[in-house]
Amino acid sequence: MSHSAVSQAAAVSVSIGNERSLTRSVFKHNNSISFNTKPWSSSLALTQKTSTIRDAKRYSNTTICMSVQQASSSKVNVSPIELEDPTDPPLNLYKPKDSYTAKIVSVERVVGPKAPGETCHIVIDHEGNLPYWEGQSYGVIPPGENPKKPGAPHNVRLYSIASTRYGDFFDGKTASLCVRRAVYYDPETGKEDPSKNGVCSNFLCDSKPGDKIQITGPSGKVMLLPENDPNATHIMVATGTGVAPYRGYLRRLFMENVPNYKFGGLAWLFLGVANTDSLLYDDEFSKYLKDHPDNFRFDKALSREEKNKKGGKMYVQDKIEEYSDEIFKLLDNGAHIYFCGLKGMMPGIQDTLKRVAEERGESWDAKLSQLRKNKQWHVEVY
Ligand code: FAD
Repeated sequence: MSHSAVSQAAAVSVSIGNERSLTRSVFKHNNSISFNTKPWSSSLALTQKTSTIRDAKRYSNTTICMSVQQASSSKVNVSPIELEDPTDPPLNLYKPKDSYTAKIVSVERVVGPKAPGETCHIVIDHEGNLPYWEGQSYGVIPPGENPKKPGAPHNVRLYSIASTRYGDFFDGKTASLCVRRAVYYDPETGKEDPSKNGVCSNFLCDSKPGDKIQITGPSGKVMLLPENDPNATHIMVATGTGVAPYRGYLRRLFMENVPNYKFGGLAWLFLGVANTDSLLYDDEFSKYLKDHPDNFRFDKALSREEKNKKGGKMYVQDKIEEYSDEIFKLLDNGAHIYFCGLKGMMPGIQDTLKRVAEERGESWDAKLSQLRKNKQWHVEVY
């Protein structure tokens, strides 16, 4: 990502703690947005100044995400708790012909300098008008004309929501996305051809605090977090930005003090990315490992840095294979398994699971249809 987008990261001061309602006002000043939180007394109050974020990005290899600071507190109270009330998730409140105009709060590069490509964490202010549940997606209509239909707007692009229903500021007014900038490299010259870069992902990653954004949704039910059993096991498998819905789940399970939902089960995240610099939300996840070692497991597959047992690149399916006995046992005991990320991840994973099943003398086809029937199998790939 260009430094310009990084330097546009919002000036944010966030205070968190025991107060149920976190009042926030947004005001625009000098091309940046600040969150002016209601003052309250707590030793946990945290203030992150933009300059610190910028300087840290410029001078270190460490990737900083504002939410990391939030993760360093004990569980955060959330509001409004009415967001827990509905029995069904909100669905398609806004449609392509009647989209919601939201505002960009911040755009933050969340990968290090050695990551191939760029991924941004984007916070969007919907003022509480576009409620959603963890695991759902928003649609984004990028500005401009659809080249295939002159005069018509662009088609909607879907993005998994990477925050909980309370948003990164715990007040139910924002949603966050984790967006990878789609760039096009000419296969013959190997050079980037900006005219063929992805429209919506580039719009999002280049957007500035205060910019307007047309949103549809929320949509999707397949990745909703089943909460009927607070002691359930959730095995989450992601490649790259596929981690987005799991960031939402994990904040709900481990960071937020959610009324009537006290998680006591196991959340196990398998994340596949290219290298250490490409790891997403790593500080947040590492903090859960430290604070909840009995309830959280986290396995990473770094394809360009690690080798699998055959000497090839380490992909997420190799990690699954490593723990296949445990995973199969957990599935037999009712665990949910989720897959999210690029479509290309599924064939390798399915092949591995099939091979493991056969080695165990089981039929994968029968097992898979049982998992589907029991609603234990959740897939959202793109
Ligand atoms: P587009 O403009 O649609 O282009 C698509 C691709 O074609 C790009 O790679 C572009 O470089 C290439 N291209 C453009 N023109 C040409 C040409 N002339 N010749 C050859 N190639 C060309 N993405 C995320 O980053 N994060 C998420 O959390 C996420 N969640 C998703 C959830 C769901 C349910 C779905 C369905 C998709 C999700 N996606 C997510 C993918 C996202 O919706 C978009 O598909 C993605 O951002 C690319 O959109 P774009 O507008 O940038 O690219």
